[in-house]
Amino acid sequence: MRTDEAARVVIVGGSFAGLAAAHELRGTGAEVAVYERSGGRMATRGAGIVMQPEVEALLAKLGSSAREVSVELTERQWLHRRGRPTRYEAPQLMSAWDVLHRTLRVPLDEVCYRMDSALRHVRVEDGKVTAEFADGYTTQGHFLVGADGIGSTTRRLFDPSSRSRYAGYVSWRGLEPESALPGELLELLAGRFTFFGADGLQMLCYLVPGPNGERTEGSRRVNWVCHMTVPETELPRLLASRSGKAYSTFLPPGELLPQIEAELAATAEQVMPAPFAQLVRLSKVFMQPIFDLAPHRMVADHAALIGDAAGTVRPHTASGAAKAVGDAASLATALRGWVPGRGLPHERLAGWERERLTHLAALSQAGVSLAARSSLGTPTARRYFAST
Ligand SMILES: Cc1cc2nc3c(=O)[nH]c(=O)nc-3n(C[C@H](O)[C@H](O)[C@H](O)COP(=O)(O)OP(=O)(O)OC[C@H]3O[C@@H](n4cnc5c(N)ncnc54)[C@H](O)[C@@H]3O)c2cc1C
Repeated sequence: MRTDEAARVVIVGGSFAGLAAAHELRGTGAEVAVYERSGGRMATRGAGIVMQPEVEALLAKLGSSAREVSVELTERQWLHRRGRPTRYEAPQLMSAWDVLHRTLRVPLDEVCYRMDSALRHVRVEDGKVTAEFADGYTTQGHFLVGADGIGSTTRRLFDPSSRSRYAGYVSWRGLEPESALPGELLELLAGRFTFFGADGLQMLCYLVPGPNGERTEGSRRVNWVCHMTVPETELPRLLASRSGKAYSTFLPPGELLPQIEAELAATAEQVMPAPFAQLVRLSKVFMQPIFDLAPHRMVADHAALIGDAAGTVRPHTASGAAKAVGDAASLATALRGWVPGRGLPHERLAGWERERLTHLAALSQAGVSLAARSSLGTPTARRYFAST
């Protein structure tokens, strides 16, 4: 094998972790190629993203900035069923999954980004990794990065025993054009990070840029998330779709069954402050059950796992994207200077794994504590959508 050859890195998954890895590893001189399972538009899956320092750092490297891709908030407010909201000053930048994805994707125009590429199998032989995809396509590299999210095929191939566990609650979500909502509702929500909490439930809402990054009044979107304690036995009923397609970890907008939509609107009417109940009623709701994937291992033979594929954090720390980007940046640091023919920098990779697993465990624990403080998924919490 030649010893002056640039490392070729196969990246599985083309969301935050995959795109961040492509940028960071390219920065070390590696040749990268990204393989993404989705065949069409990916944008409908994501919604609001609270801006965090790791993402800001990556944007700065790309010549962009957090401000350019975010809506700025000035206050936080807590709504109550009765009485006026409680408010305090808390400036914050809020972006959106589709806006950030495009910002990371565009500068990679010349990089191979193959869609419709669902990883099926990985083989490691003589220091080379061969990845095989569902359509029969194969590719080879010197290293593979598994950035394929919570249901990671890469992780299952390297560690068949790992399993995700339902956290006891689901997140109902909405992302509506502000132009489609009543003026009075917008006046309450614009410029503010808005919260409401009740037994077994927490809802939050903030504005994000429009689908093409628009930040001007009238063209932004209203993003909301409502975490609700729901028995695991009800998940199949809630994940049943209008199209008949099977979903297990995410139900996209437009797929919620009308009877579930009606049940959700009635629950909102019963327990939420009127503005939030109105927002739920006017939205094309989508849904994501929350699963925990315990931190375990991130390094395998000529491969590493990053982002949600390596382990998840609860949404309350708003740090899933930041963790994914941080995993990618530090992995690139561990691999910097590596030349394929000379053997992997095993010690640096082991150090990277230790450091990132410690960080992940701390974030996971913080998320679990925040959820418990809001009585989400706890044994004594009120259970919604319970049919028995
Ligand atoms: C309700 C909720 C709110 C959240 N809010 C925030 C927030 O405000 N801020 C924040 O930072 N994070 C938030 N998160 C978390 C955040 O969305 C994730 O942590 C982040 O998207 C992880 O990125 P990733 O690239 O690791 O995984 P993903 O975004 O899941 O991407 C994985 C990619 O791999 C692809 N893939 C899967 N299998 C294969 C395969 N076999 N072959 C090829 N490709 C494959 C998928 O199609 C996908 O594109 C939230 C999560 C939830 C549930």
